[in-house]
Amino acid sequence: MAQLLITGGAGFIGSHTCLVLLEAGHQLLVLDDFSNSSAVALKRVAELAGTRLQRDQPTLIKAPDTFTLVEGDIRDAPCLDALFASAKACGQPIDAVIHFAGLKAVGESVQQPLRYWDVNVVGTQRLLSAMDQHNCRTMVFSSSATLYGYPDQVPIPETAPIQPINPYGASKHAVEELLADLAGCSGAAEPIQASGAGWRIARLRYFNPVGAHPSGRIGEDPNGIPNNLFPFITQVAVGRRPELTVFGDDWPTPDGTGVRDYIHVMDLAEGHREALHSLLSADPQLLTLNLGSGQGASVLDVVKAMEAASQRAIPYRIAPRRPGDAAITVANPALAAQQLHWRTQRSLAEICRDGWAWQQANPNGYGDGCR
Ligand code: NAD
Ligand code: UDP
Repeated sequence: MAQLLITGGAGFIGSHTCLVLLEAGHQLLVLDDFSNSSAVALKRVAELAGTRLQRDQPTLIKAPDTFTLVEGDIRDAPCLDALFASAKACGQPIDAVIHFAGLKAVGESVQQPLRYWDVNVVGTQRLLSAMDQHNCRTMVFSSSATLYGYPDQVPIPETAPIQPINPYGASKHAVEELLADLAGCSGAAEPIQASGAGWRIARLRYFNPVGAHPSGRIGEDPNGIPNNLFPFITQVAVGRRPELTVFGDDWPTPDGTGVRDYIHVMDLAEGHREALHSLLSADPQLLTLNLGSGQGASVLDVVKAMEAASQRAIPYRIAPRRPGDAAITVANPALAAQQLHWRTQRSLAEICRDGWAWQQANPNGYGDGCR
């Protein structure tokens, strides 16, 4: 059992990972500013895990609580210092950090690059400084397949060229570089490096996380009009939006629509558990791993799978390509399988079944209430 700090733990991927980590017997401290999430998600995680959620201040962490929520910003250095110090003072020093907190909307990052660098890069640097000061040198970091830009090789291995094409991707790349520097592996092309600097770091490059916990109690709840395909489709299925716009049917793919590697969020959450356990049981190292299924699905494949899961028609219309899109991104997940003995277990049909269960039970996301 470890004491873990989960930044951004109230968000989409964070909330599902909290559940998996609670079920694995860990004790969690969540730090979130709720800029893109709701505390209701964590209440429901506690309910699913059969525990209770304790709300606290960074200076007042009480031991031993299984699941504690602190509202705060990763850029707030005094808050971070107080959090690490008070966890230590009550006999539960933080063993490792799983760092989800950050901004993730590509289009917004083009409009607000300074904000993206501030939260994603400066915020992470402050977090790493606090960790270093308090002798906590294990981190699992949320990186992204967006680093591969327009890939020239599919399926994409971790050794593919890193070529971010927007400020969001650039901010993730900057953090990856900082983590490599800390691990003593600057400039390393190899995805796994032994480190002499005492840091245990996993840089996990997610492909397209979608779906929801099968209970339908927690899921993805984007603000406003979804930018991503999957939540858009579930909102069309539930009647919140009239039709899907398909961005291009002239891509060099089997049906002409864009192909992505969709990964069930529970598979992704389990990947974090395995990465954490691997780091905690190994010598200091830098792990860089793709987390994806290795399977591609087109936009129309996802439409059909969601129609089957929901038993509803998903009207769509074809529009021009979206600027900045790649035709195909699919992971080569072999290294994660080798290093973590982890691979995805859930199919596109299960992704749609669970995503639909969540959307149907919560047509307006967590806005539906605090049950
Ligand atoms: P999310 O927005 O649902 O979760 C992020 C959480 O961080 C939210 O709860 C938000 O309130 C919190 N947060 C944001 N800024 C904060 C700050 N300054 N201080 C404290 N908390 C803050 O996003 P997600 O989909 O769960 O993504 C989690 C991580 O994974 C992000 O870093 C994202 O960039 C990365 N990622 C996501 C995807 C994806 O498609 N969802 C793909 C690749 C990588
Ligand atoms: N897409 C679409 N309509 C939408 C949103 C996305 O046709 O409303 C397509 C998009 O062009 C891409 C795929 O769906 O081919 C996945 O897009 P998403 O934004 O979900 O993920 P990303 O492009 O970031 O991998």
